[in-house]
Amino acid sequence: MSGSSIPSATISRLVTYVRILTALEEQGVARTSSDLLAEEAQVSAFQVRKDLAYFGRFGTRGMGYTVPALRRELRRILGLNRRWAICIVGVGRLGQALVDYPGFEEYDFELVGLFDTDPAKIGKEMKGIPIRHPRELARVVDEQGARMGFLCVPAEHAQAAATMMVESGITGILNFAPVVLEVPPEVRVERVDFLAGLKRLAFYTLNPPENDLPKQVEPDPTVTAALATHRG
Ligand code: NAD
Repeated sequence: MSGSSIPSATISRLVTYVRILTALEEQGVARTSSDLLAEEAQVSAFQVRKDLAYFGRFGTRGMGYTVPALRRELRRILGLNRRWAICIVGVGRLGQALVDYPGFEEYDFELVGLFDTDPAKIGKEMKGIPIRHPRELARVVDEQGARMGFLCVPAEHAQAAATMMVESGITGILNFAPVVLEVPPEVRVERVDFLAGLKRLAFYTLNPPENDLPKQVEPDPTVTAALATHRG
């Protein structure tokens, strides 16, 4: 199956369904339905069925889905049932925070390499992993079988660092830098744009959901005066 034939919104929702199924399994719930998954994921039941239909037939008509089986299947489809070796390129404020983040282990995401161009950082260790110069990336990628990397360098260095990651064998980049990267078609870039989220939040905070109608805009007095003059 080619990843490009599946809408990326479907993949995002699959990740949400796994999270919901994990919570249900932890609560000891044995069966669920597209209605319940839809309610929890805030989509329609039709959408849930359509998303799952891309990958085959799940569950029994009228009986719903077995929670552990569906969770296991979706994790397999997403590639979350296996170990992923990950490198971080750029071990500054953000890179260091990511090294300290404990959530990766839950999904067998393992940090195997840290890379930075700053001579003051090279040779230091974080969580037992040495910080190396990026020229060592290709060797570490090869030895550790790493295919994914976090790109955490300043925007002006992001394209060069991304090119170097691709040349080293990385095929999936989680890009934290606020730039659009040019990469070959077989390489996937997922952008994490924290400031874009903050800007959308500013708009929605000014325009809360109950306030659906557009705000009344006060007429600009200069425009009103100009129109009055024009009308004579
Ligand atoms: P930073 O300046 O603290 O760290 C950047 C690190 O990248 C430095 O250690 C630097 O030596 C290294 N570096 C520079 N060029 C490199 C290269 N070619 N190869 C390897 N390492 C290289 O920056 P930061 O605050 O960690 O931010 C990193 C990126 O993440 C930026 O693009 C920033 O816009 C984005 N970002 C940061 C935050 C945050 O909270 N700090 C949040 C969202 C996005």
